[in-house]
Amino acid sequence: MCLKSGGGARDGFNSKRKNIAMIPFEKAYDIVMSSGFRTGTEVIPYDDSLNRILAEDVVSDIDMPPFDKATVDGFACRKADLKDDLDIIETIPAGKWPEKQVGKLQCSRIMTGAAIPSGADCVIMVEDTEIIHTGKIRFKGVFTKKNIALKGEDGQKGDIVLKAGKQIKPQDIAVMASVGNVSVTVSKMPQVAIISSGSELVEPSHVPGISQIRNSNASQLMAQVKTAGAAGKYYGIAKDDEKETLYLVIKAIAENEIVIITGGVSMGDFDFIPSVLERAEVKILFTRVAVQPGKPTTFGLHPKAIVFGLPGNPVSSFIQFELLIRPLISKMMGFEWHPVICQLPMNEKFTRRSDERMMIIPVTITNEGQVTPVEYHGSAHISALPGAHGIIAMPVGKRIFEKGEIVSVRYI
Ligand code: AMP
Ligand code: MG
Repeated sequence: MCLKSGGGARDGFNSKRKNIAMIPFEKAYDIVMSSGFRTGTEVIPYDDSLNRILAEDVVSDIDMPPFDKATVDGFACRKADLKDDLDIIETIPAGKWPEKQVGKLQCSRIMTGAAIPSGADCVIMVEDTEIIHTGKIRFKGVFTKKNIALKGEDGQKGDIVLKAGKQIKPQDIAVMASVGNVSVTVSKMPQVAIISSGSELVEPSHVPGISQIRNSNASQLMAQVKTAGAAGKYYGIAKDDEKETLYLVIKAIAENEIVIITGGVSMGDFDFIPSVLERAEVKILFTRVAVQPGKPTTFGLHPKAIVFGLPGNPVSSFIQFELLIRPLISKMMGFEWHPVICQLPMNEKFTRRSDERMMIIPVTITNEGQVTPVEYHGSAHISALPGAHGIIAMPVGKRIFEKGEIVSVRYI
């Protein structure tokens, strides 16, 4: 499969900007990553902390499990007695402390999660027993495991159970619940403004008129910001009008730490974003990156905010957020974020004609663990992305991935 490589400068359009040099992606990444600042911290209820970045270690206030407990439903007894019939002396449901000590040829009926009675050194599973007559059972198995989780075997009081610097997942919230950590210190979220730019855009609830399209970038970016653990605020659609765009950009800069504008950074007659940013006193650090899709990605700094101008095509916007903005947001919150990467073989040969830019290719992974580029018609083809499991990068100077060649897949 071969994707079209993007065209060069379009003659006649914005001639002042048409010869701007592209910077390598790695350089753009370094510029972006050295521009952030560290956000502060705040304390929030643990059950509101999903996706937030943990800023302090979580320490256990108990041994886990807090007592020796049964891991199966069955009978607590002495392993030495398994060849003989056993008298049932007590029933121990979960939540009740045992009252009787298990002696020779005795057992207590016990439920999963209940405390082990003293004297017992194993729990035989109910499936491995038969009832001889009321109050007496026999082990009919060949072998039994202990089926006891020992006090403190999963962790001890005072242990660090979650380390600062991780993004909080549902399973982390379960750990916090289990150690009673009901208030949690997290990094403050950078406030991220999102502005869509383009006179052709209508909001998703509208039926587009002739020559209009729906604004898919804003909601995509809001969702990406949310999964990065930050707070997005949508500022609406700016028409391709310098004054209107400038007003929204100035307002967003004043109210946020990061401002993302999509559209208007290419070289059309109405691509006003670079000039608007200059008028808003943003110091522009780059306007062209050697990456495909996403070449016109623009980046600048204002004393009040970090500003990104992303290309309007939704796949470009998605990918540039993943490549540049997610790592920045993570770093600002002290999150050592590394994408999950899998080394897998190509299922088919992939070629391209031009090799000046790093190319990002959406791919699926077959059931056999092979990598197949998705059918993808270019950066406007947003419906291609939901079918992709990940992305691979073809570096500058490379034109072919051979069938069977090992590539690094980053999950998206
Ligand atoms: P631009 O970067 O403004 O030249 O836009 C490039 C392409 O992306 C054009 O086809 C636009 O219509 C489209 N586009 C721009 N903004 C959006 C948006 N917010 N949602 C979906 N498509 C967009
Ligand atoms: Mg536009």
